[in-house]
Amino acid sequence: MFKFEESAGGIVFKKENSQTYILVTQHSQHHGWVFPKGLIDKGEDKQTTAVREVKEEGGVEAKITKELSSVEYFYKFEGNTIKKKVTYFLMEYVSGNIQDHDWEMEAAEWLFIEQVEERLTYKTDKQVWSKALEILTK
Ligand code: ATP
Repeated sequence: MFKFEESAGGIVFKKENSQTYILVTQHSQHHGWVFPKGLIDKGEDKQTTAVREVKEEGGVEAKITKELSSVEYFYKFEGNTIKKKVTYFLMEYVSGNIQDHDWEMEAAEWLFIEQVEERLTYKTDKQVWSKALEILTK
């Protein structure tokens, strides 16, 4: 049997001078490049989690524009297998500075749309990114 965890996070876009930028962060522990996300607290809805985690791990305020799909993966921690489900939201940047991200991420960058797929570490994130890209470019 495995333990189950559920997280939520955001793919944050910012439009500036007719360019679109996407917020991508580097995890301090596993060093993968990911979108900001985190565990849904008890009693919290996933939208609230996504907004909170984007603020904590990405340093910025952003508002949800659309729910994207969920991804699932398994990982091992202290001998246990954990199944994790992560729901991502497409979110529009409102204010703040990515340099204000907390210790959970070692880096945060605004990337051009064309740079995102290559930078992402995990296949599941690339899959949800392709859906976000469809929405952003249609
Ligand atoms: P959360 O941000 O949800 O609180 P966390 O930061 O504690 O979680 P994860 O980012 O889920 O932890 O990382 C836990 C393990 O899962 C790490 O070993 C990491 O390499 C791996 N992992 C993270 N994201 C993915 C993914 N999309 N696909 C597969 N493995 C992943």
